Amino acid sequence: MENQHPTPAMERAPKVSFVSLGCPKALVDSERIITRLRAEGYELARSHAGADLAVVNTCGFLDSAQAESLAAIGKALASNGKVIVTGCMGAEPEKITSRYPQVLAVTGAQQYESVVEAVHRVLPPRHDPFLDLLPPEGIKLTPRHYAYLKISEGCNSRCSFCIIPKLRGELRSRSAADVLREAERLVTAGVKEILVISQDTSAYGSDLKYAASSWKGREVRARFLDLARALGELGVWVRLHYVYPYPHVDEVIPLMADGKVLPYLDIPFQHAAPTVLRRMRRPAAQEKILRRIARWREICPDLTIRSTFIVGFPGESEADFRLLLDWLEEAELDRVGCFRYEPVAGARANELTSPVPEAVKEERWHRLMRHQQAISARRLKRKIGSRQAVIIDKVATGKRSQASVGMMAAKGRTRGDAPEIDGTVHVTSRRPPRLGEIATVRIDRADEYDLHGTVIGF
Ligand code: SF4
Repeated sequence: MENQHPTPAMERAPKVSFVSLGCPKALVDSERIITRLRAEGYELARSHAGADLAVVNTCGFLDSAQAESLAAIGKALASNGKVIVTGCMGAEPEKITSRYPQVLAVTGAQQYESVVEAVHRVLPPRHDPFLDLLPPEGIKLTPRHYAYLKISEGCNSRCSFCIIPKLRGELRSRSAADVLREAERLVTAGVKEILVISQDTSAYGSDLKYAASSWKGREVRARFLDLARALGELGVWVRLHYVYPYPHVDEVIPLMADGKVLPYLDIPFQHAAPTVLRRMRRPAAQEKILRRIARWREICPDLTIRSTFIVGFPGESEADFRLLLDWLEEAELDRVGCFRYEPVAGARANELTSPVPEAVKEERWHRLMRHQQAISARRLKRKIGSRQAVIIDKVATGKRSQASVGMMAAKGRTRGDAPEIDGTVHVTSRRPPRLGEIATVRIDRADEYDLHGTVIGF
């Protein structure tokens, strides 16, 4: 709400409300925009109604995500009236402006400068060199102890169901030194876990021809392995997301076995049937992948593998789907997410014949989830009796655990669980654990998705 009577000396800071939709990559974009706005003296409002201007960072990956983004824009317009839209949907501004002509500006993903300029036009910054200071690590939207670190933008692959390369362009990697400087700032600010993200993490640096850059008096190449090794030297947990299964991924497994980076790989395999993978325009050698997974586990027995799959892709036959279930049985992945195929406007897959009926997609989705649930539960059970390092994400305030009198309850994650998407460890402890602290926990039992244990040391 506008302040009608500002006194010149105490004029209040302009307030912006912010909605961030979509994946962790979009969250990183939001963090950058907010960091920049905060540096210029803007304040964040908790609600659209309490702001002078609303910014909506949209996701355009699937039609359902676009619908969610349009709904969020409508909501911001209804409760504030002044709205700027950015993010993936900004690649097709007419989709937004045809529905909401009153939107003040639309900018695309990664166009931080354009969003900030648009904010300046609508709501000029107040200049206050003392209040404009911000913490050197920037403003984070994640809890203090973990942070996403984006190492590149865009993607050179051309998966037929995906329009990310159209929305975000070709692969553009940051130099290794630039990434490492940001990582070090985060660690100095108290971050205990770095989640490395990009559209395609294992392709990192190929656009730079793996050029080296100078970091702490030595040269570090912009290569997946070299960057992972250097990040591993920072002394915090380093987790690798969105790794495309290129052969050179094998090189990073020994680093995991040595405890340099977390023994965790997030590889979206998407399917196992060669015919479906070919239609998806993805590598179709899942037999070889099975052998590689077995080898990875020989080298690093603690390795946790998370993946995502798409069921009901055009042309997926019952035989293809069964092959996928058999593959999952053999691969024994730890965590699996599954999507029902959904056409995305502009994707090449829309030209494919033999769509799978919605009812069949639904049925396959349930079958896959049931099938995988048993596999994940089996793998989780193997952890009973083991000792696990657990990072504490949530501390129960003032609550004693019901499990045993005098114990405190908290929630955390093992090295095999990423925040938001994987499981949780419910822990009890004699002394209250602190947020971001890494405790040694004895695992007492497991349920379908989560573990339960007792802290035996800090
Ligand atoms: S690897 Fe494939 S699915 Fe991932 S962003 Fe690139 S084109 Fe899209």
